[in-house]
Amino acid sequence: FKDNEYIDKLVEELNATGANVMVGKIDQLINWGIANSLWPLCFGTSCCAIEFMSLGAARYDMARFGFEVARNSPRQADYIMVQGTIVHRMAPVLRRLYEQLAEPKYVIACGGCAVSGGPFKNSYCVVPGVDHILPVDVFIPGCPPRPEAMFYGLMQLQRKIKVQKFFGGVNRKEKIAEFFAQHP
Ligand code: SF4
Repeated sequence: FKDNEYIDKLVEELNATGANVMVGKIDQLINWGIANSLWPLCFGTSCCAIEFMSLGAARYDMARFGFEVARNSPRQADYIMVQGTIVHRMAPVLRRLYEQLAEPKYVIACGGCAVSGGPFKNSYCVVPGVDHILPVDVFIPGCPPRPEAMFYGLMQLQRKIKVQKFFGGVNRKEKIAEFFAQHP
């Protein structure tokens, strides 16, 4: 598993033979499962969270894409969907919730307030973007982003998950540890 390039080549060659078999890697199987069953922990503090609710309703129905139901417990969620203004007093709570998510875990900053503080970024009490607190995987701009933009952002997370490597390659845990070393 250390030599991913060799394995990639081998898989391609085997699939190209046209034999009646399908060859894949453990990475692909795990990523397929994770990417198609992403349950959000909603950390919505204002208007963007209302827009996100429409994703779960019949018109947009996010379950069609495997995003399923929003959970209120980090123990049952795969990623945090941060929406709305985050003030400094909330930061430790948000960090604690992130720590309580099971690995592998992801973060989406949804809407201008979560991305950069939005219209309130100059206030003394507002965090100018959740990337000051958590390692953000996907940023979704907008005030608020339309549901279609949220879908696009969620699909970017799926794309990111589908190429992650559990064996060899870039170690995600190391990158996250590096982030927290820089943002104690
Ligand atoms: Fe509200 Fe705009 Fe901030 Fe979203 S980005 S929470 S819509 S002010």
